[in-house]
Amino acid sequence: MSKAIELLKKHWGFNSFRESQEAIIKELLDKKDAFVLLPTGAGKSLCYQLPALLSDGVCLVISPLIALMEDQVKSLEAKGIKALMLSSKLNRHDTIVAFDNLQFGNYKFLYLSPEKLQSEFIQEKISQLHVNLIAIDEAHCISQWGHDFRPAYLKIPVLNEMHPHTPRIALTATATSLVKSDIIENLNLIHAKVFSGSYYRKNLQINIEKTADIRGRILKLVQSVDEPIIIYVSTRKSTLEYRQLLNAKQINATAYHGGLTYKQKTSALDEWSNENSKVMVATNAFGMGIDKSNVRMIIHAHLPNSIENFMQEIGRAGRDGKDAKTYLLYNENTIWESKNMIQKSTVSPEFCKMVYAKLNDYYQIANGEIQENLFSFDLQEFAVRYQFNLSEVYHALNHLHHEDIIFYDQNPNKSSRIKI
Ligand code: ADP
Ligand code: MG
Repeated sequence: MSKAIELLKKHWGFNSFRESQEAIIKELLDKKDAFVLLPTGAGKSLCYQLPALLSDGVCLVISPLIALMEDQVKSLEAKGIKALMLSSKLNRHDTIVAFDNLQFGNYKFLYLSPEKLQSEFIQEKISQLHVNLIAIDEAHCISQWGHDFRPAYLKIPVLNEMHPHTPRIALTATATSLVKSDIIENLNLIHAKVFSGSYYRKNLQINIEKTADIRGRILKLVQSVDEPIIIYVSTRKSTLEYRQLLNAKQINATAYHGGLTYKQKTSALDEWSNENSKVMVATNAFGMGIDKSNVRMIIHAHLPNSIENFMQEIGRAGRDGKDAKTYLLYNENTIWESKNMIQKSTVSPEFCKMVYAKLNDYYQIANGEIQENLFSFDLQEFAVRYQFNLSEVYHALNHLHHEDIIFYDQNPNKSSRIKI
């Protein structure tokens, strides 16, 4: 481990490992698998990046978002470590050059999306590499019970077939017991040691306040800090309303929700990340991929759907380790709104059938093949598109718990079976 500390100082400039990092690194250096459940900001990247530097060969990292990969590659390069990502911009020639660099140059990291991994050409290239470690970041994307289910994650086990003796590490911050067992089962990590740390973050001050005037309180809170803020609201409409409220007070605010196009989302995220805009007003569609370390305040203007959501959302504050505050603001109205959602969520079998039928549309399944443009399965987005209540959709899906169900095409002879 002394070599590990040396590299930690040399490349990262840190003096010591954080809790759990050292044990995880040891496990991987012993060629064993690891399953890491640690909160956002805990320092999970280092857990695979450092052991990869200590071994010959290349570390493969599966990551769900281009923005996340770009960040990681940039930050490794800034540390003097050679890394590259397979983006969709690369043509076949570029891809061949990239793999040449990995095989014969001194590149240590290859980041790629699970969709890229489906290409046979890429698989062939990967099978020729000397892979020292396989890291599966945001591993909850493999579970239909998580918020960010990505069907392509289910294909990741092809890597085990190509490199059966390479240790693997799966990392996530979101893990309900259901999601956790899904990850273990789907990635075949039964023998992996589980590292789960405390979700306690001592630099976060968590405030839960009852207030009749949520808007007024928000204005006060926002004016009390200079650094970036996120306000979570429950609907797309409220993102716009709060943005307007803040703009009227000369506070720069950006709105973000699942209904924006990819381009609009990127530009909203950029505007806030570059701090041209102080406040991001968002629905819970704003989440994965935010790697902003100096968020000083998170405000909830509604009751979050679950404790997991709440933890995940407030976890985006104070990633730099400095003090940050979070506020959950509520009153009778917001309680009533969320109760109303829960009450509405007792669903009939007919409703379930309708949800499944719409899911079929949403999946755009043709001839049993998921079309290429299907990128992610966002329940919230799905619910909004078909004007379902999100909690009703959850309820309907609960009836399907771990059973095979059939989605019918318009043509009943063509049906597709999907495991939910
Ligand atoms: P996660 O993936 O768990 O959300 P990251 O890997 O993005 O977290 O790391 C979060 C922050 O913690 C980064 O800014 C990183 O540089 C910092 N960090 C990680 N390990 C250490 C350490 N041992 N000492 C100090 N800072 C660390
Ligand atoms: Mg991470």
